[in-house]
Amino acid sequence: MAERIAIISDIHANLEALVAVFADIDAQGVSEVLCLGDVVGYGIDAEACIDLVQRRCAVCLCGNHDWAVVNSALGFNAMARQAIDYTRERLHPRAFGGRRRARRWAFVKDLPQEHRTNDWLLVHGSPRDPVMEYVFPEDVEIAPQKLEEIFGMFEGACFVGHTHLPGVFTEDMTFVPPAQLPDGYYLGAGRAVVNVGSVGQPRDGDVRACYVQVADGQVTYRRVAYDIQKTTEKIRASRIGNVCAERLALGK
Ligand code: ZN
Repeated sequence: MAERIAIISDIHANLEALVAVFADIDAQGVSEVLCLGDVVGYGIDAEACIDLVQRRCAVCLCGNHDWAVVNSALGFNAMARQAIDYTRERLHPRAFGGRRRARRWAFVKDLPQEHRTNDWLLVHGSPRDPVMEYVFPEDVEIAPQKLEEIFGMFEGACFVGHTHLPGVFTEDMTFVPPAQLPDGYYLGAGRAVVNVGSVGQPRDGDVRACYVQVADGQVTYRRVAYDIQKTTEKIRASRIGNVCAERLALGK
């Protein structure tokens, strides 16, 4: 049987979504899990999500929220910054904070910015700026030059997250959402930028956790239902704020 790889991204400290995704991954005979970053931010279960990703993923890249927690949240909006500050307080090593705390902090601090495997380039944002730059679906219309430059920076396929908007950008400047890919997307016909969507905070109107599996060059989008109410109740009870909770129930 061909090797089956799962690529996940943008977990955002949503433990219920991450556990549901790993259950789906385990039921599908996946041999390796790769993570494109943003393990933390927006949600409250940073520690448990870091531990799970560290244990289960062969590679985890650095997302902008991961970077902000261990560096600076400059440039983030107030809502995101509030969650970053909350996360930093909980993760920051202390004199008698124990080894696990120190290990988690080191893990987030040392996350790599890109990874190459098979014929693929993996980044959180874009090949031009791996941690920070967004590649939006509307870029095919409003920023074709940006996309051309991005397509010039890799061979084969480039996997990204960051926008929380799943879909495939093809070399002819088209964005194809998962709804138009009932049989998945076959890599190899030309270069492609594949956005794997978000596990912990989908923004494409579908509230279920999103990730992809790749086997034999075929990219398949997976949607996994999870206990959103449990997640939103935990966020509401924290000082992260209701906006982060409400958007989970909207998928926005
Ligand atoms: Zn994100």
